[in-house]
Amino acid sequence: MSQRDYDVIIAGGGMAGLITAASIGYHSKQHAKVLVIDRNAEDQPGRKTNNGWTCGDATSKRSLDYLAEHIGIRYGSPELEHPVSGVYVYSPDRKSKVLFEGEGYLFNRKVTPQRQVKDAKKFGTEFMYGTTAERLVSENGYITGVTGRRSDGSPYKATARLVVDATGSSSLLRRFMPIDSRIEKDIDPDDVVGTGRYILDFKPAKEDPTFFAPDYCIIHLDQFIAPAGYAWVFPKGKAKVNIGLGVSKSGLDRRNRRFGLNDNLQSLIDKYVADNPVIKDAHQSEDPADSGNTKGNWQVPVRRHNDCMVANGFAVVGDAAWMPRPIDAGGISPSIYGGTILGKVVAQALEANDVSEASLWKYNTEYMQTHGYPMASFEVLRRYLQTVTNDQINYGMKHFLSEEDVQAITERKHPEFNRARFMNPMMWFRILNQLSLARGLRYTVEKSSALVTHNLNYPESPAGFEQWRKGLLSEVNETMERFKPLEAAA
Ligand SMILES: Cc1cc2nc3c(=O)[nH]c(=O)nc-3n(C[C@H](O)[C@H](O)[C@H](O)COP(=O)(O)OP(=O)(O)OC[C@H]3O[C@@H](n4cnc5c(N)ncnc54)[C@H](O)[C@@H]3O)c2cc1C
Repeated sequence: MSQRDYDVIIAGGGMAGLITAASIGYHSKQHAKVLVIDRNAEDQPGRKTNNGWTCGDATSKRSLDYLAEHIGIRYGSPELEHPVSGVYVYSPDRKSKVLFEGEGYLFNRKVTPQRQVKDAKKFGTEFMYGTTAERLVSENGYITGVTGRRSDGSPYKATARLVVDATGSSSLLRRFMPIDSRIEKDIDPDDVVGTGRYILDFKPAKEDPTFFAPDYCIIHLDQFIAPAGYAWVFPKGKAKVNIGLGVSKSGLDRRNRRFGLNDNLQSLIDKYVADNPVIKDAHQSEDPADSGNTKGNWQVPVRRHNDCMVANGFAVVGDAAWMPRPIDAGGISPSIYGGTILGKVVAQALEANDVSEASLWKYNTEYMQTHGYPMASFEVLRRYLQTVTNDQINYGMKHFLSEEDVQAITERKHPEFNRARFMNPMMWFRILNQLSLARGLRYTVEKSSALVTHNLNYPESPAGFEQWRKGLLSEVNETMERFKPLEAAA
């Protein structure tokens, strides 16, 4: 192997890239020479776009505990801005609500990367700011570096034994992969949601926990306000909020066609904020910790994660690997789990002097077994939710969702929707009243369960991959055929 500038180059210093850097440092006992390249200026680490560090900011305590247990990093103030005790999900008519209990936090996404850079530097990571990674370099079937451009326009090139793509949802590196690999290069545009939000200070006009609760995140399901997505009100204090929504582009187009409207993501967000009866006298936060980060839109992949995330001398993590949870676009925990696991596997591969696809494969299997398997199968539930009307959601949440289903979703397992089964004669009338809804829920349960089993049988080595993927695609394609997105719904 020719001499390389670094052991590892991580392209993208956001949530996933910075955790991967710290994890490699931790597991290699700082022996690995790691470089993080990021297009941002040094004083703006982790910024996603010119609009800032756009995110809903919410994550579970469970994932933060995982990070602390596995690489000894525990966040506190000022990274964690506000604690919450759970998430309330409301039906479109707001008459049903479901509580998903579980401690969580609202990050300050602008401040957090500053702490993460410090953590990575403690482990010896080097940084190259103001540099955009544009293409991967290869040699003899291995990725061996990146080329790109500095902010002054001058070309940049660096070589490494292994490159990690953590450039987020708009990754070009993965898309222009120059070697044969099992990594999928492109995602269907319908599997990406447009999302946006404000961070606002406001004067609570009244108390109404349906629209703002200082200790709980609120999610509003509504195919008219957030077609094929959802809207959220996440507290960042008693009078501070992260409020926004996510929609699928085609879902929004269909809804606009049906109602003769011309809404776009931003107009939907603005209406959603204006209609909130608690959030009044609102203005974008003036806290310096929020400056440049109070209004922004960006995209999130909501498919299952990439079926293979490694190639010779290469791995992909975070949004670049399509890791966010399909039903709620939550990508912070997957970045934490994915980055932590990838860092360990990379350290082992460097130690063994083998950065081949086969050597890095453990990242695929361990991520799938630890965090990925239910996430991937939530793809079915997401596809199903895109087919139902507001009336069906109202009915389903009122009559079919049980305590056990809620508990299952909280524990990242699959709900059984037993109330939608004919086992219980008490439910017959309700099921017959909404037969297609009940059937859809039953199908979702069966397919999700089949996918969980399939994912838990992810192959231990590249040899079994093609066969495994064939089985996966046959399940997924059948689901897509059955769950055609809703034309439009009020
Ligand atoms: C509006 C919105 C709301 C969300 N809400 C939540 C939520 O409440 N909870 C949750 O868990 N998740 C949420 N997510 C998803 C979450 O924000 C992402 O999953 C997470 O940030 C992914 O981290 P990442 O490191 O993969 O990518 P990013 O955070 O996007 O980081 C990528 C980094 O790479 C840099 N970069 C990009 N391209 C290049 C390049 N070519 N060369 C060099 N550097 C590059 C970027 O500047 C950035 O620093 C939300 C997303 C959006 C858009």
